[in-house]
Amino acid sequence: MAAVRYRWPKGKRSAAVLSFDFDAESGFIFREPEKARRSLADLEERRFGPRVGVDRILRLLDRLKLRATFFIPGWTVVNHLAPSKRIRDAGHEVGAHGNVHEAVGFLDEAQEKTILQQQLAILKDQLGVVPAGYRSPSWDVNVWTPALLKTHGFRYDSSLMGNDVPYALDTPAGPLTEVPVQWIMDDAPLFRHVYGATNAIADPGRVLQMWSKEFSAMHRENGCFVLTCHPFISGRASRVQLIEDLVRAMRRQAGVWFTTCEEVAQWHEKH
Ligand SMILES: [Zn+2]
Repeated sequence: MAAVRYRWPKGKRSAAVLSFDFDAESGFIFREPEKARRSLADLEERRFGPRVGVDRILRLLDRLKLRATFFIPGWTVVNHLAPSKRIRDAGHEVGAHGNVHEAVGFLDEAQEKTILQQQLAILKDQLGVVPAGYRSPSWDVNVWTPALLKTHGFRYDSSLMGNDVPYALDTPAGPLTEVPVQWIMDDAPLFRHVYGATNAIADPGRVLQMWSKEFSAMHRENGCFVLTCHPFISGRASRVQLIEDLVRAMRRQAGVWFTTCEEVAQWHEKH
């Protein structure tokens, strides 16, 4: 038998997290503020998330009896408070995800700190949530970001691709746990229609096969499988069905720890 590469609780072989980035219109407003003032088409595409996608995903998670991790920008909390509260009230983990989905590569350290404090205040005031975790908008992270997160009380970040098991980022303020992500398990490059981009809209059957293969291989490698989906993209009917089919296939393997990013980070810190 191969050596255990990473030790999971109760002798489990791998960990699996469903994570959802509830962006709604925020990313569009940050990247294209001019267009966001006039393009109802672009706004409505993203409003599908709060209007339909979130509740469809919540019903899925209820059917599967799974707790998931939702990363929500401050802007989305303020502008879509009811669905944000339904996520919290269903018992899912809520993490931070920027204020107006700022890609921090555009920010200096002082600006990034201000925006971090703004999003924390909104999560606290509107939802009563003090998040353990942070996912950077667009998976954009500056070299100083981990220390900022650590000094603002975060236990973990989930935005980097430097491993496929949890690992520690050294910061001057002490270690910050990373719950790593990867492009293969992000719905946006597969499903998002962007004019002029090389990717076409993927067949859910192909994506199920791709994600199932990635999961099976990571399971053998004692990996931490973190799926990242967006309610405005994966809240579409056939894609919610895809997530359900994927989880049912994963459950046919023995020894999968279905959990949240926060519980993965807690486990990593203790062991
Ligand atoms: Zn996002």
